[in-house]
Amino acid sequence: MWKTWSSIKLWKRIAGGLILGVIVGIAMSGAPGVVDTWIKPFGTLFLNFIKMLIVPLVFLSLVVGVTSLKDPARMGRIGIKTVGWYLVTTAFAVVLGLVFALVFQPGTGVEKVAAAAPKAAALPSVVDTFLNLVPTNPVGALASGNILQIIVFAIVVGIAINFVGPKADPLERVMQAGADVMYKMTAGVMELAPLGVFALMAWVAAKYGLSILLPLAKIIVCVYVACILHAIVVYGLILKLYGGLNPVQFFKGIVDAQMVAFTTTSSAGTLPVTLRCTQDNLGVSVGVSSFVLPLGATINMDGTAIYEAIAAVFVAQVFGVTLGGGDYLMIVIVATLASIGAAGVPGAGLIMLTMVLTTIGLPLEGLAIVAGIDRILDMARTTINVTGDAMVSCVVAKSEGELNKAVYDAAPVA
Ligand code: ASP
Repeated sequence: MWKTWSSIKLWKRIAGGLILGVIVGIAMSGAPGVVDTWIKPFGTLFLNFIKMLIVPLVFLSLVVGVTSLKDPARMGRIGIKTVGWYLVTTAFAVVLGLVFALVFQPGTGVEKVAAAAPKAAALPSVVDTFLNLVPTNPVGALASGNILQIIVFAIVVGIAINFVGPKADPLERVMQAGADVMYKMTAGVMELAPLGVFALMAWVAAKYGLSILLPLAKIIVCVYVACILHAIVVYGLILKLYGGLNPVQFFKGIVDAQMVAFTTTSSAGTLPVTLRCTQDNLGVSVGVSSFVLPLGATINMDGTAIYEAIAAVFVAQVFGVTLGGGDYLMIVIVATLASIGAAGVPGAGLIMLTMVLTTIGLPLEGLAIVAGIDRILDMARTTINVTGDAMVSCVVAKSEGELNKAVYDAAPVA
């Protein structure tokens, strides 16, 4: 039986779990407590396993990536290209979100709710952000899972290994072996994905049911359609025109990561799967993927940018606040910053929304309306966040000769 089960492609098994989860969840929406107690733990188990992989996987594969790239100038170039693409795609995302919110008016006709205003989140200062990139205690950074600090430490270790030369060969081999072990573990954990995805979907569907969604259907549809359009048009065009790559192959190769992102709503949590999909299905080298993806999971969030823009205009519409040209410009700037500052964890975008609303002078009570359905919106935005990271890893790899075109064009293996 296991043989027949595992002969079915993983994405089909995960998709099956997802659909079954929605059906079971809706059927049991009268008893969300039962789903919470008996089904959700399987989702949490999957999540815990996947989180277990993140820190060692990012650290080891990035050290291996840096040692395989060797030339520091080349690494600098990859870094600049990556950040450049991240900014360009985020800018498109915010503008698209704004246009959608203005055309479809998701906030008109929605009732205000009276709620205590939550506290606004603040962005740390630019200087602090830069200083914090360097971990004063690398073990502490690894222990607390601070991805940006781990990236910096891993790059420094990798460069130092390159400089030491043959004497550091044993360490390089240990890192390589460690990374291989982590990849093997990722493949193993992914076998749990169909069950985990089923449990998480059942939990979401049971919790929200259909009745809660209907009054807010407009904003949900607005965020989903904008996200899908951004992926197909913006990513599709960049892949095709800049990368000379077939977008259909890209979407086929990344589907496992998309489904895990959709159900877990965490781009940091999906990282092991994204690394696996880009390396095994899309032929992106370990060097590029292990640098571009962890960085993207922390700073590149196109889905979140789309959401921040739509949600801000939504709140203005619900509360009957008229926005002017200056306000829209402000939304573009702050939504971009919010998407960069949001952590790749569930609900981070909602917390960042407080910052956007305060800056524009919109009532924070608006948050209460969005918060009720945030998980549903988070599923769409996290999927796009992860897709955007993977897309950039492909075009950067292609431009650096670090993409195996034969693997990219072949049917997905993972
Ligand atoms: N959950 C999103 C992510 O992990 C962040 C957000 O809440 O917007 O990518």
